[in-house]
Amino acid sequence: MPRLFVNSDLVEGEAFALDEGQANYLIRVMRLGLGDAARVFNGRHGEWRAEINKIEGRRAELTPVDQLRQQETNGCAQLTLLFAPVKKSETDFIVEKATELGAARIQPVITERTQTRTVRLDRFQKIALEAAEQTERLDLPDVSDATSLDAALAALPFGTALIFCDEAGDEAEAPWGGQSGRARPMAEILPALKGQPAAILIGPEGGFSPAERAHLRARASTHPVSLGPRILRAETAAVAAMTLWQALCGDWG
Ligand code: SAM
Repeated sequence: MPRLFVNSDLVEGEAFALDEGQANYLIRVMRLGLGDAARVFNGRHGEWRAEINKIEGRRAELTPVDQLRQQETNGCAQLTLLFAPVKKSETDFIVEKATELGAARIQPVITERTQTRTVRLDRFQKIALEAAEQTERLDLPDVSDATSLDAALAALPFGTALIFCDEAGDEAEAPWGGQSGRARPMAEILPALKGQPAAILIGPEGGFSPAERAHLRARASTHPVSLGPRILRAETAAVAAMTLWQALCGDWG
């Protein structure tokens, strides 16, 4: 059964109209007809089995018939991904994987060394919606337009732990910043953060500037972490960090 995110309220027996794209998908692509069903969710009323009760030209209507899943929060803390946009397909990949890995919020941030200074918000929202439908989420992540690093940090809800993925050390002249001032392994840091909302921060291809690292480390709720002894591409680092967080602090438990 195809699964669709809809904006309409989902109430048993109360028909609602699909948008043209969704009607086209069910009727022409999936070749469904009157009485056939789809699974629908709206982020508020759980997931329902809904039957096609009207097809008129390019339009179609569904009627929720029975609720398949309750809209329940898993009680876990919320995860935000703050990431510097990189090349287009890699950035699309980050948005899609953040959705699959349960991020509640996806916030592109512009840092000193970010090459890509603007993003296509409508494109990100479409990627996130399709990933949420595929990954059986009952909600959509909140995807925001790109903003400055400082603005993104200021917007974090009080009490959010900032997990700063810092691949560098403090020795400016040494490769990778040398050995002094390196962050602790992420897996070592996380147990103490269990139950706390978290924001994972991933930098651009060129990493963070020394000034940004000093500024980030000076913040009270910043936790610099290492993702091991190799430099990961930004998209690899994002997936690795979110995976670790979900496994140790999130809903994989
Ligand atoms: N500065 C690196 C260099 O000079 O090659 C490149 C940065 S890396 C491609 C992009 C981002 O991924 C980093 O800013 C960091 O947030 C994260 N990252 C990559 N490898 C990491 C590691 N081993 N530990 C912590 N974070 C890492």
